[in-house]
Amino acid sequence: MKLIDGKKISSDKRAEIKEKVAKIKQQTGKIPGLATILVGGDPASRVYIQSKIKACEHAGIKSFHHDLDENSSQEAIIALIKKLSENFEIDGILLQLPLPQNKDAQEYLNAISPLKDVDGLHPFNVGLLNLSKSWNEIIEKNILVSCTPLGIVHILRKSGITIEGKTAVVIGRSNLVGKPLSMLLLANNATVIMAHSRTNNLKEICKSADIVVTAVGKSRFVNKDFIKIGAAVIDVGINRTPEGLCGDVDFDAVKDMDIEITPVPGGVGPVTITMLLENTLKAFSNRRKIVV
Ligand code: NAP
Repeated sequence: MKLIDGKKISSDKRAEIKEKVAKIKQQTGKIPGLATILVGGDPASRVYIQSKIKACEHAGIKSFHHDLDENSSQEAIIALIKKLSENFEIDGILLQLPLPQNKDAQEYLNAISPLKDVDGLHPFNVGLLNLSKSWNEIIEKNILVSCTPLGIVHILRKSGITIEGKTAVVIGRSNLVGKPLSMLLLANNATVIMAHSRTNNLKEICKSADIVVTAVGKSRFVNKDFIKIGAAVIDVGINRTPEGLCGDVDFDAVKDMDIEITPVPGGVGPVTITMLLENTLKAFSNRRKIVV
């Protein structure tokens, strides 16, 4: 087994972003700004948002954090999003998900200015991704794409894993991970199979794939029977178990296989946060018409 070092891939990219931010500041006097919103006090969400704020500050991106009470009304949350959308100093807006009390996230995401939608979840940006014909087009047009899928493609490319012509199975069809990732892999010329809870013969389908991405949220879900020798396995799952944090892959069961795999923690997670910084720079560039 070869471990794919998400932390190293992430720190290399963060160093690059930090340099770009410093250059922007030196040449234009402007600083990219990211606003984060946390509704309620869910401890895991608070940890995630703090990591994002810290990463921003480390890169030289200005962060503007807003804590909202768990019982905030829909009007109050949307009013804040609208205010931030109109604030010129702010280039990106991140609404931490999931929202409490079964609030439908999409209603709130739709209120974010598409130009500041650094999570790439506004219908406008989802549409741009789906209409794009190639990876080059996505990059050249600075399209804002959901951070985790963007991070996964970054990991594959940086690890020298060929995507073009390969068969990729994505397990999970969420708007956050599975769907945008499938579009990105397609744009990279993979043959993509999207699997979900109603998929028949999942093991056999995965076993035939060169790339398996699992975004299910169930520990030890993927075992040896799902993976072909030589495959690349990207484990997106984050599961809290009595033994600690783990992904969807039964790591012990596959550790003797000749495969490449992202660990949990230390795989997709750090790169996801890095892509938030990258998207903030893209939003800065698109909105302020400054090439970065
Ligand atoms: P989600 O919205 O709950 O989606 C889970 C997907 O898994 C659904 O499409 C579901 O299928 C599918 N699924 C459930 N049981 C299945 C089964 N037995 N066989 C095949 N597919 C099955 O979750 P998400 O937001 O995409 O997140 C997935 C996981 O990734 C979670 O553990 C989450 O914490 C993690 N995550 C990690 C990062 C990171 O940065 N590392 C970022 C985002 C998410 P149906 O659609 O048919 O129900």
